[in-house]
Amino acid sequence: MSKPRFFTGIQASGTLTLGNYLGLIHHILKIQDEYEVIIMIADLHALTIPKKEFNYRQKCYEMAALLYACGLKKENCKIFIQSEIKEHLELFYLLSSHVTVGKMGDMIQFKDKMEKEGTGNLALLSYPVLMAADIFLYTEQEKVDLVIVGQDQKQHTELASNLANKFNNFCGQKILKIPTFEIPKLGGKIMGLKDPTKKMSKSGNDYIGLLDKPEEITKKIKRAKTDSEKKIYHDPEKRPGVSNLLTIYALLRNQKIEEVKDLEGLDHNQFKTKLSNLLNKKLALIQKDYYNTYLPKANEFLEKNKDYLKNLAEKKIATIKKVIKI
Ligand code: ATP
Ligand code: MG
Repeated sequence: MSKPRFFTGIQASGTLTLGNYLGLIHHILKIQDEYEVIIMIADLHALTIPKKEFNYRQKCYEMAALLYACGLKKENCKIFIQSEIKEHLELFYLLSSHVTVGKMGDMIQFKDKMEKEGTGNLALLSYPVLMAADIFLYTEQEKVDLVIVGQDQKQHTELASNLANKFNNFCGQKILKIPTFEIPKLGGKIMGLKDPTKKMSKSGNDYIGLLDKPEEITKKIKRAKTDSEKKIYHDPEKRPGVSNLLTIYALLRNQKIEEVKDLEGLDHNQFKTKLSNLLNKKLALIQKDYYNTYLPKANEFLEKNKDYLKNLAEKKIATIKKVIKI
């Protein structure tokens, strides 16, 4: 039997953060031998809020190199650039007549970003439909498909499932396969360090980047917001800062929170030093592989994957067009 397929997307909007690593990459590392992993670097999604000086293509290369440097294997993980496969935009358009503008305007992320970015442009409004297209190009009826997203994408996965059902009804057949959507329980939402009530996000300014220098990381962790209670335990509601650091610590050690036993008696500063050391050790290895091995060859690796994915996408679109008679 062929391998089940795993799909996910990551925006080409900056470098990868510790949130991306623990919320997504960490999980892929665990399943990459059993799944055919497909990772889309979403430069079109990054364009929803366009930045004039931003070199999107260069960012895509950097992200691909960083993903491989994190330990994703080239044989198992096919990373590609969204804008290189035009079928994403084609399916996006075909799906867009099955959802109303009102529904799109109600999406939480749209409202948040509109407020934060001061724009309610059409791409920002419609990007969850493009996200649905991204997913359905690569799911197949006869395959087991898994899509991992962070908590912030939950509403968009619901929209995608809804859209697929509507589209399938319209077509009179199950042409789009809804995958299993999973949100990691621990690490699904790593929070900011300065403000642990907000998600760590690479387009914000409260994150640890995987390419940050050791002294920067130590400083960021040292300054992370905690509280006045000395003991270290997990209670995200009442103690968001300490709980976030503890989640990071546990995930880096591949442990569940309750398995972490070596922090007893430590105060916040001692804990933070321990955490910085652990993180710096991990990131030093990733950074070495990134600069020496993967960045110089990122373009080459991406080129190798492109044809394979293009072929899958073209086939899917051809089938759909036949069914809807265009
Ligand atoms: P942006 O600010 O550009 O949206 P982002 O940091 O939210 O950046 P995405 O590219 O949107 O990153 O998401 C890539 C993947 O990382 C998604 O699966 C997303 O859910 C996950 N992810 C992003 N931020 C976090 C976080 N703070 N904790 C856990 N997972 C996260
Ligand atoms: Mg995001």
